[in-house]
Amino acid sequence: MASEKMQKRPHAIMISLHYQGHITPFVNLALKIASKGFSVTFVHNEFVHHTISKSHNIHQFNLFSESGLDIRYATISDGFPVEFDRFRHGEVYIESILRDFSIRFDEFVGKIIESNPTSLQATFLVTDTLYSWPETIANKYGLVNVSFWTQPALVFSLDYHFELLRENGHFPCKDNMEEEINYIPGIESFNTRDLMPYLKEAEMDKVSPKIIINSFRGVKKADFILHNTVYELEPTTLSALNKNQPNYAIGPISFSQNLAKTNPIRSHSFWPDSDCTEWLASKPPGSVLYVSFGSLVEVSKQVFQEIALGILLSEVHFIWVVRGGVTDAFLDGFEDEIKDKGLIIPWCNQIQVLSNPCVGGFLTHCGWNSIQESMWCEVPMICYPLAYDQPTNRKLVVDVWKIGINLSDGVPINRACVAQNVRKLMNASTSEGLRMEARKMKDILRDANKNGGSSDLNFDQFVKDLKAKLHAMD
Ligand code: UDP
Repeated sequence: MASEKMQKRPHAIMISLHYQGHITPFVNLALKIASKGFSVTFVHNEFVHHTISKSHNIHQFNLFSESGLDIRYATISDGFPVEFDRFRHGEVYIESILRDFSIRFDEFVGKIIESNPTSLQATFLVTDTLYSWPETIANKYGLVNVSFWTQPALVFSLDYHFELLRENGHFPCKDNMEEEINYIPGIESFNTRDLMPYLKEAEMDKVSPKIIINSFRGVKKADFILHNTVYELEPTTLSALNKNQPNYAIGPISFSQNLAKTNPIRSHSFWPDSDCTEWLASKPPGSVLYVSFGSLVEVSKQVFQEIALGILLSEVHFIWVVRGGVTDAFLDGFEDEIKDKGLIIPWCNQIQVLSNPCVGGFLTHCGWNSIQESMWCEVPMICYPLAYDQPTNRKLVVDVWKIGINLSDGVPINRACVAQNVRKLMNASTSEGLRMEARKMKDILRDANKNGGSSDLNFDQFVKDLKAKLHAMD
C-alpha cells in the first residue's frame, strides 16, 4: 500500500468552455500543469474537436501529441448535433450547457476513475469558473476543485461580490445609472457605467446573469482559484480576493516561460490562419492597423459599415479579421474600394500579426486574451467593446493603464469619429504617451513570467499548496 501511494501520480481532469478565448488559456494551462510532473486528461467538447479537425484538415488529431508530456486528450458530447450553430443560437445553447452538461461530465469523470489504475487515479479537477457544477462533481468523487478564471481579476471580483452589488442597488443595475461603487474589497472606485452589461437591467432576462449567479456561488467553494492575469496589474483586487480563498495570478499563461518548446502548433485554433506576412512586408513600420472585434452576428450591418468607411477615411493601412469571412451583407463593393490599403481575412495567427513591426495599432473588442497579446507586443489599442467582460476590460485599458483610446466617446459610431480616432492612434506623435505605457506593460508581463517573477512564483506556490492538499486527502 505504501509503495502504491509513493508511485501515485496526481492526475488532473481539465475542461474549458467552448470559446476560443477560453480554450487557448486552458490548453496552455494544461501544458504548464503537465510540465510540473502531473498527468492531465484534457477534455474537449466534441464539437470543438470537430471544428478544429475540419478547419485544419487533420483527422484523428490529438491536441497534445507533440508536447512530449503526459496529457491524454478526450472528447465529450454536448448533446447537440455537430452542425448546430452554437454561436448563432448562443442563448439556447448555453442554457442547455448550464442545465444538462454536468450529467455528461459527471459520467465522463466516473468512467475515467473506473478505467484508470490506482497509480493514475484522477485527483483534481480544473474547470472554467463559468461552469456552475464542478463542486458537486468534485465532492462526489473526492477530487480537489481548481477553478480557472480567464478574464481580469477586476471582472472576477465584481462577479464574486454580486450579493454586495445587489445590497447596494447595483445588481441589477439601472441601465443609464452613473454611480460610484466604493464598497467592494480591493476595488477603490468604479463607476456603474463600466459594469459588465450582464449585471444591468437590460440583460436580466438573458442567460448570462443566471450563469454568473450560479457559477460564482459555486466558485466560493473551490479549493484553489487560478487567474490568467498578473499580480502587478491588479494588486489590490487580487490581495483582497486572497483574504477569502487561495487565489493565484499566473498569467498571461500563453506567454508563460518554458511553454514555447511544448506548444508546437496552433492546433487549438478554431480556424486556419491566413498568412499576412508578405502583405505586411510591403508596408512601412507601424503603419498598419490590425482590426479584430467580432462578426456580423455580434455587430449590426450599419455599425460594421460605419467602421469600415471610417477606416477608409482615415487612410491607414489595415488588416481586418472578419470571423467567418466577408459576406455580401458586409459592405457592397468594399473589397474593391480598399485596393492595396487593406487586407480582409477570416482568421490569422493574431500574436504573429501583432508582433510584426509594421503593425502600429489594434482595433479590438477588448477580449482579455487580445488585450494581453497587444500588451505583450507593445501595440496600443482602440477599443470597441461589445458584450460580457469587454466594457469593463476597456476601463482598464483606457482609463487605468492608459494604453488605449475609445473608438467613439459617448456618441453613436459614425465614420467621422472612427476616422479621427484611428488617425490619433496611428499617428506617432499623438499616440506617443500610449506607446510609452504599452512598453511598460510589456515589461510587467515579461518580468512576471521570468524565473522568480510573480506569476512564476505564484504557479509554484499553487503546485505546492495543491500537493499538500492532495497529500492531506490521501
Ligand atoms: N484570435 C486568433 N486569430 C484571429 C482572431 C483571434 O488567433 O484572427 C485569437 C486571439 O489571439 C485570442 C482569441 O482568439 O487569443 C480571442 O480571445 P479574446 O479573449 O481576445 O476574445 P473573445 O473572442 O474570447 O472575446
